[in-house]
Amino acid sequence: MKIHDLVVIGSGPAGYTAALYAARARLAPVVFTGIESGGQLMYTNEVENYPGFPKGILGPQLMADLRTQAERFGADVQDLHVTAVDFSQRPFKLWTHLPPGADANVFKSGSAEEIGQIVKQVKQAEPDVLAKAVIVTTGATALTLKVPGEEKLIGRGVSTCAVCDAPFYKDKVVFVVGGGDSAMEDSLALTKFSSQVTIIHRREQFRASKIMAERVLKNEKISVLWHSNLLEIMGDQSVTGVKVDENGTVKEYPAQGLFYAIGHRPVTDIFQGQLELDQGYIITSQSITQPGVEQAGKVFGDNGMIPYPTQTSVPGVFAGGDVVDVRYRQAVTAAGQGCSAALDAERWLENNQ
Ligand SMILES: Cc1cc2nc3c(=O)[nH]c(=O)nc-3n(C[C@H](O)[C@H](O)[C@H](O)COP(=O)(O)OP(=O)(O)OC[C@H]3O[C@@H](n4cnc5c(N)ncnc54)[C@H](O)[C@@H]3O)c2cc1C
Repeated sequence: MKIHDLVVIGSGPAGYTAALYAARARLAPVVFTGIESGGQLMYTNEVENYPGFPKGILGPQLMADLRTQAERFGADVQDLHVTAVDFSQRPFKLWTHLPPGADANVFKSGSAEEIGQIVKQVKQAEPDVLAKAVIVTTGATALTLKVPGEEKLIGRGVSTCAVCDAPFYKDKVVFVVGGGDSAMEDSLALTKFSSQVTIIHRREQFRASKIMAERVLKNEKISVLWHSNLLEIMGDQSVTGVKVDENGTVKEYPAQGLFYAIGHRPVTDIFQGQLELDQGYIITSQSITQPGVEQAGKVFGDNGMIPYPTQTSVPGVFAGGDVVDVRYRQAVTAAGQGCSAALDAERWLENNQ
């Protein structure tokens, strides 16, 4: 079986940027798009903060253009999902088939146990692909409550990214679900545009750091519904209101926006036991968490520099984008990390043939 120089797993901004750089370095990368081809930006309309587009660009258009650009230089983009990997020895093994009768959607909505079962079954067959190096860019999914109205109105008033979307809510009434630091940051960011921000929080106090909670509670534009749960998002073409269980009483409020800030789940189920993870995020030598700093400390080269900052716990496997990023999670940061991962992989392949 042919051994590919490089396989990229994922087709968001990180994956396609990694593919573009690797293709231009003549590594003939194979890109597996996964079942969410194009990644998270396929779920948005206008992207206004990706540099180079002064008038903004539609998310799906940006992703189609990134794919075309990578293919132009020879990236082999395949609309397949990687169902299992074995990084224990080189060449690395990847599987892209499903066991008979299995539904690929399990990778989208199944539990870790269900995915683990599929991975086990798949690995009983010979691998479908062999690679000398791999770049993982499988992204992260924003957690939501899956309440009625949400699916229909995502991108039409329902958002999971205040940094991305706050400017669209100038003088509008918005609600934020959450109680951690992200919810505090998002609420404060929204006050720069929105006329009124209401936080829906299920407990009697925030989980957020004291300083952030105080800042929020002092802000005149922000109010809080304590002991409250979001029940429904109302609206047809766009959000018109929210239904909330407030201390046992169901109430409806008019609103034009609903922001979820209840966390993210990195898409790493198939890497369990293969790569070192921290709260599900892949650890690389440039992760900003303690395990990342510890890993970086172990790999300092003679010149006092980290040789391959985007390398994971397995030499030859690199990662970038939201799947490693506990902090920024933006299209442009994901693209930047995809670029770094490709440059690292290129240099690593030169030194490890
Ligand atoms: C609704 C919405 C609006 C947003 N708006 C903006 C914005 O305006 N500006 C901005 O900067 N950011 C925005 N973001 C954030 C931005 O989309 C992400 O930061 C960015 O997409 C992360 O890119 P990524 O390449 O790391 O991962 P993703 O875009 O999450 O892509 C992950 C890819 O991995 C693939 N994958 C996963 N598992 C496998 C597997 N096993 N095999 C093969 N492939 C796999 C998926 O199919 C997908 O293609 C928005 C996010 C959302 C949800």
